[in-house]
Amino acid sequence: MSLKQQYINGEWVTAISGETRDIINPFNQEVIATVPEGNDQDAKAAITAAREAFDNGEWSSTPATERGAIVRKIAELIERDKEELARLESLDTGKTVEESRGDMDDIAGVFRYYAELADKDGGELIDSPVPNGISRVVREPVGVCGQITPWNYPLLQASWKLAPALATGNTLIMKPSEITPLTTIKVFELIEEAGVPVGVANLVLGAGHTVGAELASNGDVDLISFTGGIVTGKKIMQAASVNVKKLALELGGKNPNIIFADADFDTAVDQALNGVFFHAGQICSAGTRLIIEESIHDKFVSALVERVKKFKLGSGFDEETQMGPLISADHLAKVEKYVETGVKEGATLAVGGDRPENSDLQKGFFYLPTIFTDCTTDMKIVQEEAFGPVITVEKFRTEEEAVKLANDSIYGLAGGVWTNDIAKAERCVAKMRMGTVWINEFNLYFPHAPWGGFKQSGIGRELGKLGIEEYTETKHIFQNLKPEPINWF
Ligand code: NAD
Repeated sequence: MSLKQQYINGEWVTAISGETRDIINPFNQEVIATVPEGNDQDAKAAITAAREAFDNGEWSSTPATERGAIVRKIAELIERDKEELARLESLDTGKTVEESRGDMDDIAGVFRYYAELADKDGGELIDSPVPNGISRVVREPVGVCGQITPWNYPLLQASWKLAPALATGNTLIMKPSEITPLTTIKVFELIEEAGVPVGVANLVLGAGHTVGAELASNGDVDLISFTGGIVTGKKIMQAASVNVKKLALELGGKNPNIIFADADFDTAVDQALNGVFFHAGQICSAGTRLIIEESIHDKFVSALVERVKKFKLGSGFDEETQMGPLISADHLAKVEKYVETGVKEGATLAVGGDRPENSDLQKGFFYLPTIFTDCTTDMKIVQEEAFGPVITVEKFRTEEEAVKLANDSIYGLAGGVWTNDIAKAERCVAKMRMGTVWINEFNLYFPHAPWGGFKQSGIGRELGKLGIEEYTETKHIFQNLKPEPINWF
């Protein structure tokens, strides 16, 4: 694949150092592209471009309707190039093309949603405390935004940041994960084609400790929006304190999925699997902590195991494939270590726990779908993210116990409850400390609904109207229509 470049100040440029990075197909370890490997120097050049573009005021003073039209055009171009983008995403991440097509629909939907919202907030008149005063509250763009994304949903996560930032008149520097930059590069071609002015949207490629760290610490960046792991999130929070930049963090999750005995059994089994094994469990909101009522525990686990044994692992480009590989050799090693820990901690392996033996899969970073039973909340495997195809199962007897187990976590991203007793479901979700809770559903998200975490799953919200608030500052304007001396002094 031809060399793709960084996009800085309206130019497609190589890295200042001349360095490049090979992008690897996780299915067979072949090099699929070679891209520039930027560093802090490239990040600084992009920040300068974004700063100048913001300070000249052209984009922020463009009528919101026009900005919305450009964001809508990006959505149309993504729809036009959907198949190419979906195949590129699957090549880069290993996920099935069918799943990537779904991602592309969601991504276009996010750009459309924020295009529609762009001109909907004309400010608000509030009551003036004095006669002859007009008190207005308006929202203005934050300024220069640094945006850092992970590798699991590369373009989806980028869209949650790009669309609201552009719609509200900010300028930005996007840094995708260094291992999955391809669809983000392609979307910057579309951003250029849609007519976003020079310097407004910049793309820098490279590692977290160079490009990412510069975006987080640079005093010319007004906001840093980060999606990724908790360890990196903490570093970014520290670095951002240099100039007290605004901070948005979408971090990890260890998401409980509570199954009551009165749930629709077959649907709950099916959705418990869907809630975890898409993209080989590499989903921040994966329902990897199953919390099952004791009376149905054994039957439920048997049903899961029976289905899991039939999963078809393979290339994301094979229509039969249900689950692709993990993203990288490093990540595979991390998941293997996690499973080793579970065994040492005394959990029981009900299924999986190894790499597949199938000779066709040996070049890929495959891991078998895995279920641990006999798990307790004091185990590391119950508390820490595996970020792979691994479920831990805990048992409960009472509703109170189920909720207590679900909340026993440093994370608070998402959780689910399965029951046909709606009053019981409502009681549970009212007590669950998570940013999203599903009743008889799992992993459904859409542009209108805010997304983000309680506790150490993050700060702030993406998507929905709150996604706009993340990218705007609030300004109060008070105008005295009849100024007079007070004569106090
Ligand atoms: P990661 O934290 O390793 O990397 C994320 C991004 O941060 C990458 O672009 C990386 O280059 C960059 N980075 C690394 N070190 C940095 C530093 N010192 N300064 C600035 N940037 C740095 O995470 P990952 O492995 O790519 O992604 C997996 C994690 O992301 C999981 O924990 C998952 O739960 C989380 N995630 C959360 C959400 C959400 O919506 N809450 C969505 C997707 C993924």
